[in-house]
Amino acid sequence: MKAMVLKKITNLKENHTPLEMMDMPHPEPKVKEILVKVSVCGVCHTELDEIEGRTPPTKFPIIPGHQVVGTVAYNGEGASRFKTGDRVGVAWIFSACGRCKFCKEGKENLCEDFRATGRDANGGYSEYMTISEDFAYPIPSVFSDTDAAPLLCAGAVGYRSLHLTNIKDGQNLGFTGFGASAHLVISMARQKFPNSRMYVFARNSNEREFAEELRAVWTGPGEEKAPEKLQAIIDTTPVWKPIVKATENLEPGGRLVINAIRKLDPDKKELLHLDYADHLWMEKEIKSVANVTRKDVSDCLELSAQIPLKPECQVFPLEKANEAIMEMYNSKIRGAKVLKIG
Ligand SMILES: [Zn+2]
Ligand SMILES: [Zn+2]
Repeated sequence: MKAMVLKKITNLKENHTPLEMMDMPHPEPKVKEILVKVSVCGVCHTELDEIEGRTPPTKFPIIPGHQVVGTVAYNGEGASRFKTGDRVGVAWIFSACGRCKFCKEGKENLCEDFRATGRDANGGYSEYMTISEDFAYPIPSVFSDTDAAPLLCAGAVGYRSLHLTNIKDGQNLGFTGFGASAHLVISMARQKFPNSRMYVFARNSNEREFAEELRAVWTGPGEEKAPEKLQAIIDTTPVWKPIVKATENLEPGGRLVINAIRKLDPDKKELLHLDYADHLWMEKEIKSVANVTRKDVSDCLELSAQIPLKPECQVFPLEKANEAIMEMYNSKIRGAKVLKIG
């Protein structure tokens, strides 16, 4: 089967074709697994982190991709949750142990044996993939395959961030950075918290315009102060400066939720401007978001179907995966990028 694979860690500044089209062996579903015939797979910022080694794959060659929509080709032994032809989605959580204290408390995202799709197991930049039936999701019929793909990561992790802000309806919510995840979360936030006002900090004017289209009450560059204090801010940028700026904009007792798998090093010294009195005093909190649980993915699909959320997508054929990756690397983001495969 055709797949775009990553053979080694590489630097995207020099190497603009990190993935290679390969003929890979057809995977066979094991006990309780399903074989998924992939229709589309979303392209995520995390792929850049995998390629450059900030969250390195645990095997090579690896097939990346963790926002997969397809149909069940057939069931492995003992799998019965889905029928052949059912439409399913696969997200970042490929598996977790199910036995540890975190798994038992529903915090399977924190499991020590958390395995990620497209990093620790082959993902969806491919014609077929296998996954445990318990880690696949029915896709609500309101979505096309393409529309559903970005909801499985950008949407689901965004949903988790929103959940971790702890805000109540009517409290102000801010966003720093306005890429694929934030543009979905703002719509989910409006559905869940109709009386909350949304503020968006983004350095790029296209992102700010897009945020205004999605009814942000105020937008401005990251350095600016918002006209009101915010109860929570979700940071989706890969840099450090917004941490300092965002905590300045928080209410007493407010919370900054960082939705980024890794931060890049170049501006790390900005953190030296973090002043205890201005940025942390008065019980302000900083919380990171790690991975997703199956519940986040299901809840995100359900909330998104109520709206119904229609992510703005740019579709590339599988063989142009490198082009999609490089556009993302160069921050040419408006909405989500999706690979069309089957
Ligand atoms: Zn992702
Ligand atoms: Zn566990």
